[in-house]
Amino acid sequence: MKLDLLGTLQRTHSCGELRLSGDGQSVVLMGWVNRRRDHGNLIFLDLRDRSGIVQIVLDKEFCPEAHAKAESVRPEFVVAIEGRVRRREAAAVNANMPTGEIEVDAAGLHILNDAKTPPFSPAEDAIGNEELRLKYRYVDLRRPAMQRNVILRHRIALAIRHNLAEQGFLEIETPYMTRSTPEGARDYLVPSRVHPGEFFALPQSPQLFKQILMISGLDRYFQIARCFRDEDLRADRQPEFTQIDLEMTFPQQETVFRVVEGFLAAAFAAAGIVLPTPFEQITYDESMRRFGSDKPDCRLPELVDVREVFNAADIESLGIDPALPILAVHIAKVGELSRKEREENRPLFDGRKGAKLIDDLKRLEKSFPEAVAAVRLQAKAAPEDLLLIVAGDASTHIEASDTKIPGRLSEREIAIYSAAGSLRTELSRKYAVRHGAFAATEGVIQQAGGLPQDTTGASIDGSRAFFPIWVTDFPMFEHDPESNRWMPAHHPFTSPHEEDMERLVSDPASVRARYYDLAMNGLELGSGSIRIYRKDVQSKIFSSLGMSDEEAKERFGFFLEALEYGTPPHGGIALGLDRIVMILAGAQSLREVIAFPKTAKAVDLMVDAPSPVSETQLRELQIQKRRG
Ligand code: ASP
Repeated sequence: MKLDLLGTLQRTHSCGELRLSGDGQSVVLMGWVNRRRDHGNLIFLDLRDRSGIVQIVLDKEFCPEAHAKAESVRPEFVVAIEGRVRRREAAAVNANMPTGEIEVDAAGLHILNDAKTPPFSPAEDAIGNEELRLKYRYVDLRRPAMQRNVILRHRIALAIRHNLAEQGFLEIETPYMTRSTPEGARDYLVPSRVHPGEFFALPQSPQLFKQILMISGLDRYFQIARCFRDEDLRADRQPEFTQIDLEMTFPQQETVFRVVEGFLAAAFAAAGIVLPTPFEQITYDESMRRFGSDKPDCRLPELVDVREVFNAADIESLGIDPALPILAVHIAKVGELSRKEREENRPLFDGRKGAKLIDDLKRLEKSFPEAVAAVRLQAKAAPEDLLLIVAGDASTHIEASDTKIPGRLSEREIAIYSAAGSLRTELSRKYAVRHGAFAATEGVIQQAGGLPQDTTGASIDGSRAFFPIWVTDFPMFEHDPESNRWMPAHHPFTSPHEEDMERLVSDPASVRARYYDLAMNGLELGSGSIRIYRKDVQSKIFSSLGMSDEEAKERFGFFLEALEYGTPPHGGIALGLDRIVMILAGAQSLREVIAFPKTAKAVDLMVDAPSPVSETQLRELQIQKRRG
């Protein structure tokens, strides 16, 4: 096929911007052929660019030459059109298209490039195979749904940048080639050619750099930063992902919260949604008691402790541990489950840490009618609601600690609350259609997603759809039964509560961290902490973690030294940008909101990475292939 040259031709308008007000206007448009319909003397092209789609008409009588060329045009050809905007006849108006009241009457057609038939069409809504989409990502990204996500992401990131700049934050870049950072995942390593046998690590987060920026007196730092973690992948993980990372000098915990609320509200506004601030705030213990999770989904009924309902004899005959909570898990409107459904649901329950599930309340009712009636009453469950009981199993003894601080949850209690909480989450996902509690969120996203792109300011109320909540006062340590050691629950620069410091060694389980999470609708959006700023405290923490001075020095020596040169109190947080965009796009996977993501097997199918490298490269790096 003979292609036309672009010559001096210049685009005057984009396809999606044309409206009736432009009736009669001369235009030059450029874009991709979305569809072609040949009606003999008339050929219609739907021309697509980022802004949208407009209908082009080529009339054999009016422009015979262009009409003839249009016969050879195929979907995804790149063309330029010279023509005039005109009002469509009443019968031809398409109310589903923003440009549906007009069409462009072509006078000239330039075929700038042809295209192979793509493996799937950007014009189709249903595109099945994700591997194909990722391999031909450039075709996939042409789809309006993907373009919307990319644009939304841009608008959100821009809004966040503006907001943080207004709040006095400086955007500062930190290196990608650095040394191991303390987030606890596996590093991606980069071999040094200049220093054979030595490696850079890609940052798991800018953690130590941002703390050093505070030591450097820069007061308020932020970065929309890429982080690299070589972890086993889950559906909502990517080996490289983006965080909105910030750090500030002299904050209280609440100072950090107000900053985040400000930029998150701005991000939501960019997607057309009003997110009311300030957010709710609960402690970790309370979150576990009420939701069985440290990332509570507040759209569903809370857990209810129904211990009081059962007498000692009931508890004994049910094989329940009387020292632990007895929890009612309540999901509205699910209806009674069949035996088969109950069996299918059992794998969703994790009883490994000594929890026990009673999922047949009908049967329980036969032996304990009064108790079950009282459970229903306490849980405020209607007859058509699903009700289950999770309790401690008297027959399994779990090695776990009990804290000595009155009013705080012990590890064994936490195990029961978590078992109930994850069952609640799993079942609520499974029965989402029946209980309908998530529909409000989807509804608001859909409504907002319909907003025209140039809308300024948020207009849709998100208060009944999005439930952001701060979770505070996490435990500082977690007991690892395998090594029988107290392990840091967070990175080792997280400050303990000042008043808990003296119990660091005598009762680690009772020590609270000045650590906080932001959760929303059952997802963790981010976490942060007030940091340790004194060298003596930092050493104490390292030793309470069983890390020797040498080991600490070897890993973080540069940072420990920096701590000695006038370190101010400081703290910060990082929120996952990919996840925020995913929520606001109403997407089911992070891959829908990242332009070039990796698969669940950590592979980039488009560029085919990772890939072997040449012998020469290996030799330069003095890396040897393993034989055999
Ligand atoms: N660096 C931490 C993380 O990536 C966040 C923080 O503590 O600011 O989770």
